[in-house]
Amino acid sequence: MTNIKTGIATTLSILVLVAMMFVLNGEAMAATNNLYWGCKGPEVVQAQTVLNQKGYWAGNADGIFGPKTYQAVVKFQRDNKLQADGIIGPQTRKALGLTKAAPATATAVSRGSRVMTMITTGYCGCDKCNWPYGGQPSYMGLPLAPGIVAVDPNVISMGSHLYIPGYGSGLAADQGNAIKGNRLDLFFNTHQEALNWGIKTVNVTIW
Ligand SMILES: [Zn+2]
Repeated sequence: MTNIKTGIATTLSILVLVAMMFVLNGEAMAATNNLYWGCKGPEVVQAQTVLNQKGYWAGNADGIFGPKTYQAVVKFQRDNKLQADGIIGPQTRKALGLTKAAPATATAVSRGSRVMTMITTGYCGCDKCNWPYGGQPSYMGLPLAPGIVAVDPNVISMGSHLYIPGYGSGLAADQGNAIKGNRLDLFFNTHQEALNWGIKTVNVTIW
């Protein structure tokens, strides 16, 4: 008799425990917008890109929250008088201007395109930027104009359509001696605009 009662009590306890675990798990999942050391994915790419743009070097935007990203987050938090815990929670997210958790569809790359992390610089039509080809049209013979992008043809086919965050749409239509590998050179109308762009690591969509 006592044994049966104990048995039922034990079974009930386990059931309650399992039910509680489900509830807790559900809550934890709902709150998992935080990004921290060890996190991976497109949201980390977004955070790294924004940190880099703001001058907090988080390493290449590779989507892996590692030591560089951690240090960048802590420095950003200190500078913005946030709790410097290295975790991108609601307040840090807001201060960075990050959108809430990116919807899953936003991470899906449309058919035929790919995304590459590229180091980008700017150039213009002046002799300084084009020595010794100052004033020449682009490699493909198109007039130099905003949207013309110099690429390494071994990495990106000439004529590819590009989307460069912060710059806009581009066309792979030019080449440069220094543009090798994961490098892009973006055309600007003026030398000052090219200088203002500086060096940015961005995730470029290529069609
Ligand atoms: Zn120039």
